[in-house]
Amino acid sequence: MKLENGVPAPANRLKNFGVNLWAEFSSLAKEHKATNIGQGFPDFVVPDFLQEEVRKAVAIPSANWYTRAQGHPRLVKELAAEFSPLFNRSIDPMSEIVTGVGAYEVIYAAITAFINEGDEAVVIEPHFDCYAGDMDLSGGKLVRVPLRPTGDAKYAKNWTLDREEFEAAFSERTKMLITTTPHNPIGKIFTKEELEYIGSVCKKHNVIILSDEVYERVVFDDNEHVRIASLPGMWERCLTVGSAGKTFSVTGWKIGWALGPANLISQLQHVSSCSTFTAPTLLQEAVAGAFEYERSVAHTDDAYFKWLPAKLQQNCQMLSDAFSEIGCVPVWPDGGYFMIVDTANMGWDFSDLKTGRCYDVDCVKWLTREFKLATIPISVFYGNKNRHLAAKYIRVCCAKSDETIVRACQIIRSLKKQ
Ligand code: PMP
Ligand code: GLN
Repeated sequence: MKLENGVPAPANRLKNFGVNLWAEFSSLAKEHKATNIGQGFPDFVVPDFLQEEVRKAVAIPSANWYTRAQGHPRLVKELAAEFSPLFNRSIDPMSEIVTGVGAYEVIYAAITAFINEGDEAVVIEPHFDCYAGDMDLSGGKLVRVPLRPTGDAKYAKNWTLDREEFEAAFSERTKMLITTTPHNPIGKIFTKEELEYIGSVCKKHNVIILSDEVYERVVFDDNEHVRIASLPGMWERCLTVGSAGKTFSVTGWKIGWALGPANLISQLQHVSSCSTFTAPTLLQEAVAGAFEYERSVAHTDDAYFKWLPAKLQQNCQMLSDAFSEIGCVPVWPDGGYFMIVDTANMGWDFSDLKTGRCYDVDCVKWLTREFKLATIPISVFYGNKNRHLAAKYIRVCCAKSDETIVRACQIIRSLKKQ
């Protein structure tokens, strides 16, 4: 056995792993005691109804024990009740849903369950980083197709796929397509027409669609969140991923789920049952209660799913105004937690953009160190080939408390005077 420094070498599947980007940028933010509009975690006070659900759950003896591995019965039943109308079908709670430790775990389970060494997954770029790590762990290859700004790049809507480029990414090795809508980091919500097109290409090549919809409740203006699995003929090949952390702004709860046909979901259940076995019962019970409560107040002024997008849109508008005032160009999102901002006017020299130098990383570190404002570069969501497309953009998170947003806007405005 090959030894490194006297201990066995790590498995080859870890060869591309280095410092995790969240660890890197979050510790930089902490080190400089920065106002953090970088990492996507809401820092609001947890609303009373959620606190109450945790109190109620802990008083139930069995909610403190192991639960059913594939998903806590009360939660999968609640999820089926919540999502059946949204997919226009009757979802079977026991065979068509799996829960896990956050969306992270169900994405890992989906990729592990279907990707063999040498298989390919097409992903729309930029993309959430864990898709790449999970593909490495499975020995698969990610084939990236970038969203390109067409028309006015100031609107996330106008970042679209080049259809020729998209179709060229598929081959007989392609087993999966990974999509994110609402998108992290661009903030685009794919339209029905775009999803119909994407679905038709996937059908033609007979690939599974892993649709990451963790930001489904955060939809701005008059946009509509369309679930690709709800389109005709799509349910059979789709795994739709959700997150209680994002749905109820409690990212530390780490409860996620995937919905899909029983023959796909059962494979994820195999992976989960030997990795985590169950997600925490207590929090699955509390999330079930939260959905039940939310349905009881749906369409009233108490509805959390009404408050959340309105609040985040307001926050986005405040950050957008502040960045615009200093000459940066925000890209207005259709929804989700994030907005990207073109920092070209911050005074960088972009003449060697094609060399692959990531100004966004320099910019983010400079803002954190010198101005105590933490953001996230967006080149970290690209592979090497297309990274230059992102070099001018940074990502900000709108899911933050009033105090954080007001402070961030003050710092941004102060940059003009520097
Ligand atoms: N997908 C996307 C697009 C994300 O931004 C995140 C981060 N929350 C996740 C999945 C993981 O979600 P969770 O916190 O529920 O594991
Ligand atoms: N999904 C969140 C983001 O994009 C946080 C991810 C993480 O902290 N690991 O910011």
